[in-house]
This record gives sequence, structure tokens and C-alpha cells, in this order.
Amino acid sequence: MDALEKLKLLGPATCFEPAEEVGNIGRASSHSDDDDNAFIHNAVMPGGKRIALLKTLLTSACERDCTYCPFRQGRDFRRAAFSPDELAALFMRLHKKGTAEGIFLSSAIAGGGPRVEDRLIATAEILRRRYEFQGYIHLKIMPGAEREQVVAAMRLANRVSVNLEAPNAKRLARLAPHKDFDEELLRRLRWIEEIRQEMPGRRPSSTTQFVVGGADESDVEILTTTEYLNRQAGIARAYFSRFSPIPDTPLEEHPPTPPMREHRLYQASFLLRDYEFITEELPFDASGNLPLESDPKLAWARAHLSDTPIEVNTADRRDLLRVPGIGPVGVDRLLQERRRGHLRELTDLNKLGVVTNRAAPFILLDGRRPVHQLPLWPV
Ligand code: SF4
Repeated sequence: MDALEKLKLLGPATCFEPAEEVGNIGRASSHSDDDDNAFIHNAVMPGGKRIALLKTLLTSACERDCTYCPFRQGRDFRRAAFSPDELAALFMRLHKKGTAEGIFLSSAIAGGGPRVEDRLIATAEILRRRYEFQGYIHLKIMPGAEREQVVAAMRLANRVSVNLEAPNAKRLARLAPHKDFDEELLRRLRWIEEIRQEMPGRRPSSTTQFVVGGADESDVEILTTTEYLNRQAGIARAYFSRFSPIPDTPLEEHPPTPPMREHRLYQASFLLRDYEFITEELPFDASGNLPLESDPKLAWARAHLSDTPIEVNTADRRDLLRVPGIGPVGVDRLLQERRRGHLRELTDLNKLGVVTNRAAPFILLDGRRPVHQLPLWPV
């Protein structure tokens, strides 16, 4: 099997691992107009720049038996593996053609997490040292990887990630009976933050990923862990991958997770990360899940701001961030503009980037509720 044939098997396998792709709902979109760029994803980098990202596994051979996973040991399908040299050479071929600008590299586990981590690091080392590749590298930190390996991966990569898969040990036992939540996974995320704090110069960002719905966990469980990781492990963001049953796995009869649940989790995680919300404030229902029919910020505002709107001219940053239609950039502009004088009209806010039809029901402008048109459709 040549390297491109292997990529046809190993590239699509990363659809279970959302990374930097544009868009939060659904699977990664890939260009598929020719063989060479079928596995290149339109990706947003940590600084906001868009690049063409090659996503692939190093191998789909796996010794673990995660209950939801198509690559679990013993499942009958065609597997493949790259050597580090082979994958680095293939990537550079695509890079020189202008097809791929960066690489996301993950793997199944064959021969133990540390052995696989060595091979991921070796691939990145070849790219950096032999080919002098200066672009974007995202490396997976495997379950059980050693601390020195995490240090080595962080020296080579722009981003590293650990797949937590579930929000706690009890839920992980349903998805991955032979993974140790605290020891193999969470500890690596803590190491990454410790190492980052000690690193001179450029520091790679870190992320994690949850499989949503496979372990019957609630949104409050996922978001509690996400908030903890934001604060204690310094993750740049969490990714949410909705569960979808795979034939010939123990969870093949388990119902799929609706795409909207994944979307609501992304919205809620941004409220935790960028809008100064805490998990307890989010509008969970009695079973600990977010309403699917309404954006969580809007649901919160309807419950808390409809009768006590926020005075835009005097509110502090935290309160302004709670208003639907006002984001972190809009707040900064608004606070700056306020120093120049009072804001009196929705058009003043509109010029600052505020989505005024969303904000209007929840604000006061100089003590008055702004006149606005009611939306025709519920949002
Ligand atoms: S370790 Fe588990 S989730 Fe990862 S590839 Fe193997 S079976 Fe799949």
C-alpha cells in the first residue's frame, strides 16, 4: 500500500476528532476534488488565521476496546499504519504542492501509549529538523504518555491535545473500559499546563475532546469538567463530538446524539470561557441538559433580564457580556465609546458591532427601553 492509499484509510478516520475546522456543527468538511486534497480541512488557527490542515492518524491498529470506536481491537475492517518517515515525506510533498499548510496528527494505540507517542514525536521531529517545516503542527498526547514525551511534543507542536472523551471516570468506564480517567488522561492535561508555565518563549496551546451522548452523561457533567479544565489546565477550548453508533461495536444500538446538542455545548462552553459565566448559571433542565430549542445565553437572558434590563451606559463589563448580541469585542468597543459620551440609540450600538435586535429586549438606553421590532421567528 503506498502512502496516498494509506492516507485514504487514515485521513477520514480523524472525522471522530474535531480539531480546528471551520464550523462547530457536524463533521469536518473536506475538499474532495482530487485524491491529494481529499483529507485537507479548512481550519482556523489559534490566532484566527485560516489554513489548509492535513488531518490523519498515524495508525488505525488499536489494542484498546473502547465501546463506541470503529478502531477498537477485534473489529473487522481494513487498517493501515504510516512510519514516521513515510508520513513526514507525504506531508512535505503535499506542502510543497501548496495543498497542505499544517498537520493534525493523532493515532490509535498499538504497543502502548508511550510507544505511539514516540512515533508521533518522531514524525514531528522529522518535519521540523529534516525538512525544516516551520508551519502548524497539532500533536495528540496519547493515554499514558510519559512526562518527558509531553515536554518533547510541546517543544515541537503549536498545539497539543488529550482526548478525555468523557467528563469523569464513571462515564469514561462506559466508553473506554480500559482507560484510566485520572491517571492516563487528566494528569496529562495538568502536566501540559505545568510544562507550559515553565516553558520559555513560544508556548503551545492545548485542547481536549468529549464524545457527547455515548455514556448518557448530562450537559452539566460535560460543562463542569470543561470549566475546570479552562481554569485549572488552561485549555484553549474543548471540542464536542456527538456520538454516532458504529455497527459491530457494543454501542451499535445506542441512539445517536442530535447535532443541536453538540452546537448548544459549544455555545455554552464559549459562555464559560469568554463571557464570565459559571456552569451553575447555565439554563439546564431538570435532567441537567441545555434546552435544544434556544441558545443558552438567550435562555438565560429571558429568565434574568426580561424584567430587569441592563443599563448600557452604566453597566460593568460582566453585566454587558450577559446581554444577547453583545460579545467580548463589542463590550470593549462599547466601554471605550462610553467614555466619549452617552449611548442613546440602537444605531449607536449597531456601529459598535452589537447585534441590536438580539440585545434590545434586555437593555436600557439612558433609562429607556429601546424601541425595536419583535423578531418574526423565535430564536
Ligand atoms: S484507544 Fe479507544 S478510542 Fe482510541 S482508537 Fe483505540 S479503541 Fe478507538
